[in-house]
Amino acid sequence: GPILQLTGVGRRYNEIDRELVILNDANFALGKGEMVALVAPSGAGKSTLLHTAGLLERPDSGDVILSGRSCGTLSDEERTAIRRNDIGFVYQFHHLLPEFSALENVMMPQMIRGMKPGIAAERAQQLLDYMKVGARASHRPSELSGGEQQRVAIARAVANAPLVLLADEPTGNLDPVTSSYVFEALEALVRQSGLSAMIATHNFDLARRMDRRVTLKDGKITDL
Ligand code: ADP
Ligand code: ADP
Repeated sequence: GPILQLTGVGRRYNEIDRELVILNDANFALGKGEMVALVAPSGAGKSTLLHTAGLLERPDSGDVILSGRSCGTLSDEERTAIRRNDIGFVYQFHHLLPEFSALENVMMPQMIRGMKPGIAAERAQQLLDYMKVGARASHRPSELSGGEQQRVAIARAVANAPLVLLADEPTGNLDPVTSSYVFEALEALVRQSGLSAMIATHNFDLARRMDRRVTLKDGKITDL
């Protein structure tokens, strides 16, 4: 079955004068090894969808099913554990810890999980090499270019070998050429590791390179 499923998901925000319906009986399934682009205008609810799928937010109705496991009835602690181990996030801005090196940033999720430092460092270096920033491992985020920062953020997102990678405009802050190269490395990593990914993007060139494209319309997730 699918790695990630959204079934009948509803999500609304209550504003002072109105109710904003973002997701309304939304259904979606992400297959193993599949790379899906989420393409929709700003404000359509892409971040809300990714945060709900990634167990950062709870839906008002419906359920998120990860690898066959229903997440709706889980406690906050259980959801946090799943998020740390099974879900990787990448954002438009890298959110790397400024006082730590690239290597240490990628080691961090593994250390939180209780991995030995030597093993975490070895895996972190491998991932940085794979993302073609291995030579920058000892540098702090502020010493890296925007593209390099995003490569490190991607390496960090997959450090714990998650089931699903969720990315919210991972190259949205980069120029088109850098964006294409960073996406190429991301794509190779996803393919090589058999990861499943949902990637929000405004970039149609990148969306075209993925297996499938979906959009948000009237609160539903539909094929594009
Ligand atoms: P996108 O990622 O596609 O730009 P978002 O999911 O960030 O869309 O937001 C969808 C809509 O929901 C926007 O109109 C936004 O202003 C609103 N919204 C997002 N988060 C909240 C919140 N916590 N409270 C109220 N409204 C929100
Ligand atoms: P918004 O709906 O938020 O205005 P845009 O599509 O204008 O979104 O762009 C969002 C971000 O993505 C911007 O920082 C922009 O520079 C970047 N961007 C847009 N198109 C491309 C592209 N083809 N390649 C790389 N980055 C792009």
